[in-house]
Amino acid sequence: MIQNLTEHQREGLQEALAHGGQKVTAQREVVYSVLLAKRDHPTVDEVFQRARESMPGLSLATVYNCLETFVGCGLVRQVNHERESTRYCPNLAPHAHFRDDSTGRVHDIELPANVLQTLRSILPAGFETDSIEISFHGHTKNKTSRHSN
Ligand SMILES: [Zn+2]
Repeated sequence: MIQNLTEHQREGLQEALAHGGQKVTAQREVVYSVLLAKRDHPTVDEVFQRARESMPGLSLATVYNCLETFVGCGLVRQVNHERESTRYCPNLAPHAHFRDDSTGRVHDIELPANVLQTLRSILPAGFETDSIEISFHGHTKNKTSRHSN
């Protein structure tokens, strides 16, 4: 079951929505709590399935609208890996994504400040960064090869 938002999370939601001229609704609260409850970068369909457990009348279109609103308010990031459905991530700290091709799962990889600084420094003069998106593709190392040397 989906947990209700904590006071702190609800305030964060309210503040972000207010910045975008939007209000908290029951639907938005449910969709946001779904994203926070299991941070596995769900697709719209997955968010929809989970959100319906606590709000059976919710429509896919509403879930889609909620997610678009969150992205517009900077509360949630879209994660795109080629030819795959868009996934959603509520982690606002600077991070890269690692797509494990053996499982299809997407993991958050923390980006240290010095790495971000280095990345910004490689931009040619005259360009400025608004956001940096980094995606790794790979797989989990299997234990036998890790211990072989
Ligand atoms: Zn993420």
